[in-house]
Amino acid sequence: MTEMLFPRRVLAGGVALFTLAVVIALTALTDGAMRPLPASAPAAEFSAERALRHLERFADRPRPIGSPASTRARAYLIGQLRAAGLDVRVQRAVGANSSTGLASFGLTHDIVATKHGTDSSGTVLIAAHYDSAAMGPGAADDGAAVAAVLETVRALGGERLRNDLVFLLTDGEEDGVLGARAFVREHRLGRAGGVLLNWEARGVGGPSLLFESTRGNAGLVETFARAVPEPRGDSMMVELYRMLPNNTDFTPLTEAGFTGMNFAFIEGSSRYHTADDSLAYLDPGSLQHHGANMLALARALGAAELTSLASDDDVTYFRIFGVMVTYPNALVWPLALLGLAAVAGLAAIVRRRRLASVPRILAGVVWGAVPLVLAVVLAQALWEVLVAVRPAYDGMGGLPHRPEAFRAAVAVLAWLAVLGAYLPLRRRIGPAAPAVGGLAWPALLGVVCAQVAPGASFMFTLPALACALGTLVALLLPAGPRVAAVTAGASVAAALLPALAGVAFDGMGLALGGVSALALALFGLTLLPLVELCLWLERPGQVRFARVLRSGRLGLLVAAGLAVALVAGGLAFDRFDASHPGRTHLAYVMDADTRTAAWVSADLDPPAWTRTYVSARDTGHLPPGYARGALWTGPASAIDADGPRVELLSRGDGGYRLRVTPGRGARSVTLRVERPITGATAQVRGTRPVAVEVTGVRANTWPGEVRFRGLPASGAVITLRATGTGPLRVTAISETDGLTSAPGYVPRPPGLVAATREDGDLVAVTRTYRF
Ligand SMILES: [Zn+2]
Repeated sequence: MTEMLFPRRVLAGGVALFTLAVVIALTALTDGAMRPLPASAPAAEFSAERALRHLERFADRPRPIGSPASTRARAYLIGQLRAAGLDVRVQRAVGANSSTGLASFGLTHDIVATKHGTDSSGTVLIAAHYDSAAMGPGAADDGAAVAAVLETVRALGGERLRNDLVFLLTDGEEDGVLGARAFVREHRLGRAGGVLLNWEARGVGGPSLLFESTRGNAGLVETFARAVPEPRGDSMMVELYRMLPNNTDFTPLTEAGFTGMNFAFIEGSSRYHTADDSLAYLDPGSLQHHGANMLALARALGAAELTSLASDDDVTYFRIFGVMVTYPNALVWPLALLGLAAVAGLAAIVRRRRLASVPRILAGVVWGAVPLVLAVVLAQALWEVLVAVRPAYDGMGGLPHRPEAFRAAVAVLAWLAVLGAYLPLRRRIGPAAPAVGGLAWPALLGVVCAQVAPGASFMFTLPALACALGTLVALLLPAGPRVAAVTAGASVAAALLPALAGVAFDGMGLALGGVSALALALFGLTLLPLVELCLWLERPGQVRFARVLRSGRLGLLVAAGLAVALVAGGLAFDRFDASHPGRTHLAYVMDADTRTAAWVSADLDPPAWTRTYVSARDTGHLPPGYARGALWTGPASAIDADGPRVELLSRGDGGYRLRVTPGRGARSVTLRVERPITGATAQVRGTRPVAVEVTGVRANTWPGEVRFRGLPASGAVITLRATGTGPLRVTAISETDGLTSAPGYVPRPPGLVAATREDGDLVAVTRTYRF
């Protein structure tokens, strides 16, 4: 009998697994970016090709705050917005921010372009930043969103909308959201509130995702889900992002009272903030997706009664089987408890049918933690192995160019963790208890999230609920449709959890691969009832355990071998070349007091090109306070430069009042202070003074630091407030972009780009003062 049934069950299992694979593949295939529309698209529609023409004009080179390229980009953007009939103003103000031990300033020029409404019920603020990181042209970050603004304004044309649309193009986002902070501090609209739509990029491709929102988002998210052609993103991302220390313009704007949504595309993030965040690599589909959503939301929110969007409620939202689902968070707790109840109900039936005893089911629950922890540990260990084999990965933030094989290895390791923990337990307590116990974990996580991160609860509760119900139904059914019922339940898990692993890979990279591994191990647990049903559950007494376990052990060996092969293959495949470059950090630094110069690199293991400049880990001869941590250095010839000038204007209870000028050609000045600072104030001619408080100390260098980016040649007055008394040593570092003026510099060969560190690819000239 068993011999007859076994192949049939294996066949049913094969069909079930194939069905789930199709669900996973379809979810991945239908979650991508939109198809870009050509320039010939109807005038009222958004066309990526039309937007790209703008991008070619201003995103061909880096345009960090205060750079000549930034000035040119600004002139182009203002010209386009004025030509479209908008009321355009530029706000010139000092932006200020602080973090541990550091005060950051910058002279910002925000562009504020208004399309006045006919009977405005509030402001719809559409924001993007037109500055780029210093190392790359920022075609995606955030050029795509800026180009989308221009094309959206064109597509809206003469349409009369009810509400005021304000397009805010900020400056200095990359240096601490300086422009947005200056806007909320000094602009009339900055504190007036309204609805904010902020547009970002953390990669060069993929769908435009709604990844962050303010609390009380019900009205906004429902508008998004209804109005945009292809809504993407889910409330799990919102909860995950709230836990990360990231920051965009969205943060200061919403802290100032705006309610809003934040959008980004995040695939291809190995090029983020590098020279390859360029037109050559930007996915036009991502631009189309950003723009089509921006235009649709401008129309929908431009016509809405904005006060009616205010809400105290958050919603849960996600896409499943191609449909955007939203429900009020009031349902989160009932659903989470229902999920738990369904698993408990399944356990009761399993016990009643004498498939497993209560102690064994409880043992199964406790056991369920093992594969979850093991999967996380294995994924993190994999990253350590990859960095040990290829130290260059360490500088890429966990985001290799071609991570697919490594991601597959994480998936295999997650399965290995589930299988490796499951087989020995199954031998001891039988098949049903681990299957039921495993389902308890997504159910419990759903309950925990209901309390601490309600928007994420669905991700665990719905798979637990669906799998438990599917298995319950299967236990009540005759043999025939059993597999179908369990497969239907598991398909909910297949539609949600692998996609979560994918987004976590895109967003956090392999360095935090444990998050994806956790999602995949949970998925593995939800499949155990199916495995049991197809292979063993039906007539436990008649099953030939030895045979099955042998095949299980074989499965373990195959999985381990596959993981090793994937890692080796991934390392062989993901070599650096011209279109998949490695990164290296290099700067030239000269102490203008002693006229000694050096090349420095912060690379762990500098590549050959960098080693022609640096030869030893030795920071002894660098200017006082310059080095942050371990650096490679090498001798360099001096250049003709005076460096920054710092003049003590006064000294008193308020601190050290200094006039700081950058020196010829420099864009920025950094002050390293030998004592901890408690705050700083900065002012340039024609702006208001701006103060920030500072707590803590900088790591691996002098404890206090003040930066002024985009410092005009006439300089700034900076007041430093430091702890302690007595003479204060300050090293001023002027920073000039690019290394072409450094003696003996030969540009990088293809296959190598500048590391994303902000103190690389520049000429630094220092002077040390004692006040
Ligand atoms: Zn950005």
